[in-house]
Amino acid sequence: MADEQSPSDVETLTLALLHSRGEVERLHERERLVNSLLGSLNVVLWALDWTAHKVVYVSPAYERIFGRSAALLLAGYDQWLDSIYPDDMEYAVQSLQSVHQLGSVEQREYRIVRGDGEVRWLSDKCFLSSPRLLGGQSLVVGIAEDITEKKALQSELQRLATRDVLTGASNRRHFFEQAQARLLAAQSEGQPLAFLLLDIDDFKKINDAHGHQMGDRVLQRVAHCGAYVLRRDDLFGRIGGEEFAALFPDCDLQQARQVAERLQREVQRLRFDVEAGSFAVSISQGITELRAGDALDDLYARADAAMYQAKRAGKDCIVLG
Ligand code: GH3
Ligand code: MG
Ligand code: MG
Repeated sequence: MADEQSPSDVETLTLALLHSRGEVERLHERERLVNSLLGSLNVVLWALDWTAHKVVYVSPAYERIFGRSAALLLAGYDQWLDSIYPDDMEYAVQSLQSVHQLGSVEQREYRIVRGDGEVRWLSDKCFLSSPRLLGGQSLVVGIAEDITEKKALQSELQRLATRDVLTGASNRRHFFEQAQARLLAAQSEGQPLAFLLLDIDDFKKINDAHGHQMGDRVLQRVAHCGAYVLRRDDLFGRIGGEEFAALFPDCDLQQARQVAERLQREVQRLRFDVEAGSFAVSISQGITELRAGDALDDLYARADAAMYQAKRAGKDCIVLG
């Protein structure tokens, strides 16, 4: 019969079928392997069809890192927008758009909100894929890494490098680095600037009478007073054992004196409880303002001399230098 297949044709077909089944099985096996490898990495690979506004691929780690369903993301681009932390939305969208001019964007850092509400930091690299490789389809592909722990470590290191551990004020090195930068800025813009030194009175007696721990507590509370009365742009640092310094950008001597007076009153109000009742503390302050040709050392020397004058005048007062 004309349409009857010969046994050899059936054999060939069966073999081809078995072969392609084996091929499919091998492909599934490969897919499982790739998925489990991608799933164990702390990064998400993704591909976005820009023109269709559609996420066409996201690797398995997406569900773990974003705490959201990959199926929902593939079904709706809004899911992706929904996961961006609102304050970072503009940056995330614009930097993604810029891949069309630049071809690739090396490092974008932005925050996402997981499905459970937790905020996490991502670092993401993305580039335009070649349409030739994808049958004419132009995709933006990217790799996003969860850098939340790295960020926390970075900011902790930054804090340790710039802050005094006991009081939380800037440490000496950081304070003077910042002060130098502010001084140059004030000089180049012709703006005023004031500088203040503060020393706790009879601090040695406090340590001797109430112990070192109580001394530490006094340092912390005086530093809190400083942080409380200063403006956002002012600098405040612990520059020695019981000595602090402040720098007031865009402030003349009289304005700085008002801040110093507030600080004086805040410190006078402090009370420290001890067995026999409570004790108070006081501070001596010296202030000066920027003069033509001043280096930071000149400001420091004048404020220091003013502060020692305050000590000689009986302490618990402010002297202008
Ligand atoms: P004056 O009124 O003239 O400033 O006298 P003073 O006793 O405050 O000054 P002095 O410089 O004699 O003493 C400062 C003391 O501060 C000596 C030192 O043991 C103590 N000190 C320095 N750093 C710390 C600290 O981190 N914690 C504590 N508790 N004490 C400290
Ligand atoms: Mg001192
Ligand atoms: Mg002192």
